[in-house]
This record gives sequence, C-alpha cells and structure tokens, in this order.
Amino acid sequence: MPELRQNFFTKEWVIIATERAKRPEDLATHRPAQTVPSFVETCPFCPGNENKTPPEVMRYPANASEPWAVRVIPNKFAALSSEAQPTRSLQHLRRRIDGFGFHEVIIDSPDHSSAMALLPDAQVAKILGVFKDRYNSLSTDQRINHVTIFKNHGVDAGASLQHPHSQLIATPVIPSQVRHRLHEALRHYDDAGECMFCHMVEREVEDQTRIVLKSELFVAMEVFASATPFATHIFPLRHMASFGEITAAEILNLARMLRTLLAKLYVGLENPDLNFTIRSGPSDYVGARHFHWYVSVIPRLTRVAGFELGSGMFINTVLPESAAEFLRNIKVDKAVGTGASAKL
Ligand SMILES: [Zn+2]
Ligand SMILES: [Zn+2]
Repeated sequence: MPELRQNFFTKEWVIIATERAKRPEDLATHRPAQTVPSFVETCPFCPGNENKTPPEVMRYPANASEPWAVRVIPNKFAALSSEAQPTRSLQHLRRRIDGFGFHEVIIDSPDHSSAMALLPDAQVAKILGVFKDRYNSLSTDQRINHVTIFKNHGVDAGASLQHPHSQLIATPVIPSQVRHRLHEALRHYDDAGECMFCHMVEREVEDQTRIVLKSELFVAMEVFASATPFATHIFPLRHMASFGEITAAEILNLARMLRTLLAKLYVGLENPDLNFTIRSGPSDYVGARHFHWYVSVIPRLTRVAGFELGSGMFINTVLPESAAEFLRNIKVDKAVGTGASAKL
C-alpha cells in the first residue's frame, strides 16, 4: 500500500510509492569505473595554475610559503556581484534588488581525482574549517542576510568542473525556502516550547529505523518523509541555530561522519551525482532556541517530472527505512578516507 508522509519541518507531503518500490541497490549508477588523474595541466583548480583563477580570498594554511591544502577564490562566473550595492526598488508590483552578493568557490584539495568521499577525514575537517571561516566572515557584512554553503558533485548535480570543489553564495535576502523553515520552527517553538529539530532527533534516535550513523556529537539519518531516495540529514546533537557556532571538536567529528556517509553512498550506489547543503539559520540566529542547523545530502538518482513540477509533491520509490538499512550495511573500504587514490 502506498503511503503519504508529511515532512515535519516543511509540512510538505510526499508519496512513498511502495507499489512501485525499488530495492535501494537498483538505483546504483552502474557507471564504468573511471580513472581520473590526480593532476590535469589545463585545470584551473590544480596546483601551479593559481594564476588562471581570480586572486584568492583565503587559503589554508594561511602562510603563502607553504603549499595550500584548501583554497577559496571568487567564482569567475559569479551569480551575484560584490561590486554592486543591494539597492532596492519597487515599481508597481515589481520588486528588485541590484545583483549584490558573494559567490565563492572552495577548492577541496590540490588533488584533481579525490572526491570528498575519498579524502582523509583530516582534509574534510580543513574544508569544514574553511566553510566556518568564510561563513562567519561574510556574515559580519550588514548587507548580507543569508549564506548558503553547498557542493555539486557530478554533472547531474550541476558541477561544471571535475576538480572537486564546494561553493558558497551569500545573498542580501533570506531565500523563501529558508524563511519558510524558520517560520515553521518558530511556530513549533511557540506551541511546544522546544526546538522541533531537537525533539525529532531524540525520537529518531530512540526509534533507530532511519539512523545511518551516530557519534557522540552528530547523527546521520534518512528523512522520514524523504522527497527523493537516500535524502540524508546530519544533525549536531548539541542545539545550535547557526553553523557559525560549530566548535573545533565538532568540526573533526562532523568531518568523519560526512566523509563516511559520502563514502557509503560512493560505494553502495557507485559514485552517484549528489548535492549537499549546510542548512543554517542566518548568522544573527546565534543563540536562537527555535532553529537548529543541519547538513542535507541529496543524491541525484531520479528526475523531477510533471507531477512534481505541477504539484510540488514528490513521489519517492525507496522506503527511507530500507535506504537506512542499506547504508548501515555498506562497508566502507579502508582505502577510502586514507587519501589513497581508491578507484572503486
Ligand atoms: Zn584539477
Ligand atoms: Zn535544537
């Protein structure tokens, strides 16, 4: 029997189509293994080609005499311009803001071939540390209202360059999808006097069926009303509204969990294209009691079709509980995460 499930945060309904249910392994890409070189002479993100990108915003380590491990540059084809000013105008019903904002690229490592799933945990921790630095630094700009940090891995997820990288877009407005979640969280806090994310995480940990990974600081779980197969959220167990509040110990712990989850997807679904996003409250939400940041990992295994476009309602053909069980059982090869150029 198919089932409709409601997303606790957004109140959106999805159809879990058990009649058309697929086994999780049916969604594996079955892509032939590709050998990617660790250096490509024409790649603007490879070491030695730094002059092919706009001047860097920051590098890690900061000392320019050492080789960089993570590098941040302005996006050459930026969606928004830091040269503009967020000047607003309203003519009849047409509201506009000049295209102000920041669009940066975070180059994950000097290695052209290592997707984040294959990097050592320590390197992922460096990347997350750079995310935090950029998040906090851009958040101090009074003209910025929201910072979105994300990764596009693979062509179907929107990546146009093969060298593994992440991105950040800082906007002068809070996007409506984020605003909607903030409103729902505030409504729940008003009704129940608690953070709805803390409540949900506690119940999910008790229930166990959708949990993929758990540490003393974070938990990764399949989403109960997942719109697409294998949508996985990682929550900090400590209540925090803004990603900018993450501590050094939490960065190390999250790096291990995020990398392990990506490796499980890499092995289990044969390197699927995917996006991940850090869904954080705006920076001035530090200390807010009603919102809770998390990482949303969405493999791009299915296409959005007419029903989804026409209704905003998704049909998911994989039971989240089966997806969780499948991911729990994936053994991540020891070569993954050690920096060895594992070709799986
Ligand atoms: Zn490269
Ligand atoms: Zn919370």
